[in-house]
Amino acid sequence: MKAVVIHAARDLRLEDWDMAAIGAGQVGIAIAAGGICGSDLHYYQHGGFGAVRLREPMVLGHEVAGTVSAVGSGVAGLKSGDRVAVSPSLPCNRCEYCLKGQQNQCFDMRFYGSAMRMPHVHGAFRQQLVADASQCHQLADSTTFAEGAFAEPLAVTLHAVNRAGSMLNKRVLVTGSGPIGALCILAARAHGAREIVVTDIHDAPLAYADAVGADRTINVATSAEQLAEYAVGKGSFDVMFECSGNAAALTTGINVLRPRSVLIQLGLGGEMSLPQNLVVSKEIEIRGSFRFHEEFALAVDLINQRRVDVNPLLTDTFGIDDAVAAFEAAGDRSRTMKVQLAFS
Ligand code: ZN
Repeated sequence: MKAVVIHAARDLRLEDWDMAAIGAGQVGIAIAAGGICGSDLHYYQHGGFGAVRLREPMVLGHEVAGTVSAVGSGVAGLKSGDRVAVSPSLPCNRCEYCLKGQQNQCFDMRFYGSAMRMPHVHGAFRQQLVADASQCHQLADSTTFAEGAFAEPLAVTLHAVNRAGSMLNKRVLVTGSGPIGALCILAARAHGAREIVVTDIHDAPLAYADAVGADRTINVATSAEQLAEYAVGKGSFDVMFECSGNAAALTTGINVLRPRSVLIQLGLGGEMSLPQNLVVSKEIEIRGSFRFHEEFALAVDLINQRRVDVNPLLTDTFGIDDAVAAFEAAGDRSRTMKVQLAFS
């Protein structure tokens, strides 16, 4: 079978890999669709991010859906031919945090396509994958594989909504209109958000935010004054999802947040400074949000039941033979939102 393997920055190869044996409680999956994520792009463009660096070749990919092709012993509830989205999250389910129901904080997490540990945990951009049955969530007949491959990034944003608390009647600011920012719109709206304003420094990604139901989009590079209007009084927004990892977005966002609002930080940006006096005087709560756990099943349900429509966010699909072109396209924010690979 073919697998998409990163060796170093700009060194992405299509290789023949052997299929793994299917153990008890596991299934084989013929992967159909896989979305390229920001972290995949970091490995491709820079060989890693922060302290996480590639130290050996690694199969990329963690946003996938496919068809069950083989079933190991002891698997109930899945059969060959079932169409599934696959959660890339493999917590140990034994450590202190797993036992508290905080599996995304697992001490011994194995997450697909991650170079955090040695040996690296290979990802799912391959024609055949062996996964635990518990990672597989059934797709409705009407759900496409492309939609199913959005379950993972949607789960990231549902976890962010969980971290923020009730969305009911809330005015929401989303900073950074990449795939995660755009999916935050869907996740917040599905949970009762009243008004959603989205910012970015480019027009192209903001058009996608409009397509998935933002009430207003603002290019803060060219029209910063439009966001500044929301600073009137003591600010306008109850919740902010910071998806850009950009210090300016954080600072200007805090300016337009209301007292006792919640700022959820999703974007990764390394060290940055904060307007501490405003955080104190407005009593703003800053909370991180990292990956997901139980929200994966919710993401699949929301997609299956057509309560969210992720389709406007899919810009391009490339065959795996064109994986390098797919990664180049995914890195071009002026043109693309979510780029997927097709594996069959
Ligand atoms: Zn654990």
